[in-house]
Amino acid sequence: MKKYDYLVVGAGLFGAIFAHEAVKKGKKVLVIDKRPNVAGNIYTEEIEGINVHKYGAHIFHTNNKEVWNYITQFAEFNRYTNSPVANYNGELYSLPFNMYTFNKMWGVVTPEQAEAKIKSQREAAGITEPKNLEEQAISLVGTDIYEKLIKGYTQKQWGRPCTELPSFIIKRLPVRLTFDNNYFNALYQGIPMGGYTKLIENILENIEVRLNCDYLEHRDELDKLADKIVYTGAIDAYFGFKYGALEYRSVRFETEVLDKSNFQGNAVVNYTDAETPFTRIIEHKFFEFGTQPKTVISREYSSEWKLGDEPYYPVNDEKNGELYAKYKALADAERQVIFGGRLGEYKYYDMDKVIESALSLCNKEL
Ligand code: UDP
Repeated sequence: MKKYDYLVVGAGLFGAIFAHEAVKKGKKVLVIDKRPNVAGNIYTEEIEGINVHKYGAHIFHTNNKEVWNYITQFAEFNRYTNSPVANYNGELYSLPFNMYTFNKMWGVVTPEQAEAKIKSQREAAGITEPKNLEEQAISLVGTDIYEKLIKGYTQKQWGRPCTELPSFIIKRLPVRLTFDNNYFNALYQGIPMGGYTKLIENILENIEVRLNCDYLEHRDELDKLADKIVYTGAIDAYFGFKYGALEYRSVRFETEVLDKSNFQGNAVVNYTDAETPFTRIIEHKFFEFGTQPKTVISREYSSEWKLGDEPYYPVNDEKNGELYAKYKALADAERQVIFGGRLGEYKYYDMDKVIESALSLCNKEL
């Protein structure tokens, strides 16, 4: 008889939800995490009374009512709506691309004028079937917006020219002929009041959690504790990188406390020129409409990931897709281990999709 039914490796969103549902079904569960805190990459840390998104800004948004009802059991969500501002060498534009953007860029006033402008730039570029991100972007919004708001930002974020990137990346961004600055097309959106760490702590309430506990270092002892393992760490690390390491884009944050109450007037400002070395500045207090006397900002630098760095964005190209498929085959053969979450499945998951995936595992498994 083992002491636990499940050992959950990783106290992020996926692991926490699985643990919560398993305990609800009467299972004995131990959650471990190698970090000194729960919440994985949605971890928020309070600085000067402000919840700072330590591993990058997370804005919850979903079209799935079930997911929204599920997550709002654990925290009240505020009415934050993401409306980033783009700063191109001091010129400010509204994002995502909408009538405010088109008016500022071209002086156009009506949706028809904006559409005509985009159409003429698309035709002048002579693109019929977009083959890469550059061509996709120009055919969506024309050359001016591509040059000022997309080209530099995308090259900085992905470390590759837009002509070498797949077009689907840009399809995440809405293009609207209305005056709507909401970055997402989701029905439900907000930030958990009190921070994401509190949200995860609520999900993990009354569940045994061991922090500073690295599964891969203590695998032999830990495996003996439970019948089954839910592993949310990196899939390639689990198999000792035997086929080589999967690639990620990484991000470095330079966080600063400023002795003023308002630095940029918005939670997110993107620096879309190629020369500014960071991609964006996050001013954390505005996710929660903060009125603190000080403010905390993070400059975000995108970088190529190397072993030992924190992995962020999976690189969804052919090479990594093939490598992942090899690890996935090994994972499928591990009878007692279930792989889940962004790192376990090597997927560019938004939070709502992580919840969907965790709940679907619960349905199958519990
Ligand atoms: N993007 C851009 N200019 C911007 C913001 C986004 O060109 O000001 C493009 C860029 O190619 C980026 C993609 O849109 O990779 C998706 O951006 P998003 O903000 O959704 O990425 P995330 O917030 O997940 O980092």
